[in-house]
Amino acid sequence: MLSLRRRLWQAAAASLSRRCLSVRIINERNIELQPAAAAAAEERLIFPGVWLRDNCQCAKCFHANSQSRQHDWDKFDTQVRPLQLQLNAEQQQLQVRWSDEHESSYGLSWLRERSFEPQAQREYLQRDYRPAMRLWAGAQFEQVAQRFDYARVMSEDAALQQWLQALAVYGVALLHGAPLDAGVVRRLAERVGFIRRTSYGEEFVVQAKPGAQNYAYLSTPLPLHTDLPYYEYKPSVNILHCVVQTASSGGSNLLVDAFHIAERLRQEQREHFERLCSIAVNWNDIGSEAGQQFHNIWRQPVICRDADGAYTRINHSVPQRDSHFTVPLEQVQPWYESYAKFVRLARQDAHSFKLQPGDVLSFNNLRLLHGRTGYDDTEQNSRYIVGAYMDWDIIYSRLRVLKRQQ
Ligand SMILES: [Zn+2]
Repeated sequence: MLSLRRRLWQAAAASLSRRCLSVRIINERNIELQPAAAAAAEERLIFPGVWLRDNCQCAKCFHANSQSRQHDWDKFDTQVRPLQLQLNAEQQQLQVRWSDEHESSYGLSWLRERSFEPQAQREYLQRDYRPAMRLWAGAQFEQVAQRFDYARVMSEDAALQQWLQALAVYGVALLHGAPLDAGVVRRLAERVGFIRRTSYGEEFVVQAKPGAQNYAYLSTPLPLHTDLPYYEYKPSVNILHCVVQTASSGGSNLLVDAFHIAERLRQEQREHFERLCSIAVNWNDIGSEAGQQFHNIWRQPVICRDADGAYTRINHSVPQRDSHFTVPLEQVQPWYESYAKFVRLARQDAHSFKLQPGDVLSFNNLRLLHGRTGYDDTEQNSRYIVGAYMDWDIIYSRLRVLKRQQ
């Protein structure tokens, strides 16, 4: 079954197709589809010839079973030109004869869905690439952190999709009612895809451990941080299952949307923001786990953005920042000032809440900072959390497939 949105999209495409009565070559290379009604001038669609030729759907150019292009790209003529066009209204097809003597045929609704109009491109990216993130302040946590029933997520695809969608948009989502066994995080990760393994194994247990090799395995307060900033390929999503919660007043989780903090810094204190975006920090982790020694280092600024300026990743960890700071001398003091600003803004905005046994907290480890208040760890007063990681590649893929099946 197709989603309502996709059906509406296709209906719109079909109705446009019926009105598409003219087609012409423009600038010798491109093809323009024009609806008959002059009123619909904004729906004029222009398709670059080179792109059309590249995306020929014939069996020689396109392998339908694998949905893959199969040109010999060594021979592909980027200067290819359309020589002759024909619109087949009955079959809703556009036929093109090319300067390289090839002939192609394109469905009009196929073309419409690949419109180069900026608005249509934005809609495609939000629908099929990734849903737009909505940033939030700590005070909004109760409104944005949606809660889902564990059993329904495990058995109903619609509930699974809602959970993953909330996680993608807000960077945090909670499940409740999970059984109190150590296998929950694995079953959840396998419901989505598979667990992301790290130096600390697949599932990890967060509890006070004598002789701990990682700062998280203490009962002292755990300051805000992201996990594994010292990995280039940093785990995307943290899932934490509360099996036993301490009866002491501590042991609360702290969460903050660090993309929101970065955005505040960008708007209010541009100089600090730019510095945290540009100065690379050496994040590191030295230790051993299950008899295996490791020494991880990854160099990257605190705030990372893509070419469009969209936030992609935040790195922050007090214990796991290398004492080697390989920047020019004069950058050191300013960097500390900027980092302190960022960390204090985050601390002020952090939301505190306490998981109950059976709760599962999932959050975006590339975006949120998390921490924990200290607690008294005694035999009567313990805390037992099982965690695991998943990766966005696997989650987004699952989400796209679920949406398609709707
Ligand atoms: Zn072809």
